[in-house]
Amino acid sequence: MEVSKVLSLIRPAVRAGQAYRVGGPSRAAVKLNQNESPFDLPRDLKQELLSRFLEEPFNRYPLVEPVALQCALARHLGWEEEGILVGNDSNELMATVMQVVVQPGVSVVLPRPMFSFHMRLAELFEASVVAPPPRSDLSFDSQAISVAASGHAAVLIVVTTPNSPTGLAMRGDELRSMLAAAPGFVLIDEAYGEFSSEESACVMLPDYPNLLVLRTFSKAWGLAGLRLGYLASMRL
Ligand SMILES: *Cc1c(COP(=O)(O)O)cnc(C)c1O
Repeated sequence: MEVSKVLSLIRPAVRAGQAYRVGGPSRAAVKLNQNESPFDLPRDLKQELLSRFLEEPFNRYPLVEPVALQCALARHLGWEEEGILVGNDSNELMATVMQVVVQPGVSVVLPRPMFSFHMRLAELFEASVVAPPPRSDLSFDSQAISVAASGHAAVLIVVTTPNSPTGLAMRGDELRSMLAAAPGFVLIDEAYGEFSSEESACVMLPDYPNLLVLRTFSKAWGLAGLRLGYLASMRL
């Protein structure tokens, strides 16, 4: 078979995509473009992890879901473990959410300025992206987001709070009014939630079945190398 014929078998949206590359040097004392911690996990803790890893049977399939971690996270969040999905980083969980809700042509609201990876994924899943601009201070305009979502019957709104690269967080009352007005799911990316003085959207989980809260071990916990993230939502 000709190479061009093989390529033609690949979905046009995938072929149109570009490889995800992060600019800047891969080694630097402080990397603000990826917001990695400059400090590694202390050596004795790494040692403890490795000795636990040694006890794992490599010939056996693991549990389908990491129940012990789900229970620990549930206690940490004050939420039920059935409402926690663990993934190999929050980017993977974002792709999972899009796989579940985005059919080609449906609207997804990604207000500006937005983490570029979410935009890439939405394009890959052939969403029609609606991108309301920020207020003049660069904060997300919750009202404009709600209007855009209703006007386009968006299946998904994504907001990052606090946002990267602005560092600005949304207030709880803004999130609640967005959640109440949304015609679809609202995913709140709390990659930087631990750095915020605003309360986590996790406290709103009991009130909104359309709320998805995305969190990661990569930023505040300094564990970007372990690729670990989780999603909290109501068990539907
Ligand atoms: C770093 C970052 C993520 C990705 O976290 P991973 O769990 O490492 O994939 C998601 N959203 C935002 C806004 C981020 O800055």
